[in-house]
Amino acid sequence: MTTFNYKFSKTAYIKGLQCVKQLYLYKYYYQLQDPLTAEIKEKFQGGHDFEDAYRSKFFPFAVDIEKIAKNRNAYPALTQKALQKQVADILEATFVFQEVLVMNDVLTRVNGIWEIQEIKNSKELNLTHIQDIALQYFVTKGVLQKDMIATIVLPDENEGYKLIDVTKEVKGLQQEIAGNIKHFKDVLDESFIPNIDISNHCEMPYKCSFWGYCH
Ligand code: SF4
Repeated sequence: MTTFNYKFSKTAYIKGLQCVKQLYLYKYYYQLQDPLTAEIKEKFQGGHDFEDAYRSKFFPFAVDIEKIAKNRNAYPALTQKALQKQVADILEATFVFQEVLVMNDVLTRVNGIWEIQEIKNSKELNLTHIQDIALQYFVTKGVLQKDMIATIVLPDENEGYKLIDVTKEVKGLQQEIAGNIKHFKDVLDESFIPNIDISNHCEMPYKCSFWGYCH
């Protein structure tokens, strides 16, 4: 079986932006997270349902890496295979660059131009959405070596879906991301949990999943 190595995923990166202690705990003490509440489970399920509905409506013939892979180790190689076959639409396209793993909800190609789409079941666009897709852009571009369009898909009361082009904002964050990746790797290479006090940041932009442990 081919395996691939990565230091952290997009989820861990977003946690690191909130607090490097959260990043460290997520990587090495995952089991210390608070149990998921019924409310959070429902929110996650709503997100999955929204994503599935959008993708089956607009990309019914896409190659879904998650569905064809026997296990997660196969994701990057299957993505490469789909790219070699010139597949136009790939779901869960998976890339590792600078030891960071990302999975694109949608990677599509229109008139030869690549586009990544991140689907969020959220009323409004927020900074975390931009940071999320900006990391995907950094890693995916690092592998494909091509400029892309970055789009966030949100629900829309009238049209069903609203597509927001955030390419400009995403490009503006690329240099900062390179610095963050280096910093997070340094943090993860330490042999101790970062000493961070609890404060307002524990709930911004989301309630930290290690809230119970720290409090
Ligand atoms: S609860 Fe606060 S201090 Fe503890 S890991 Fe989370 S964000 Fe960091």
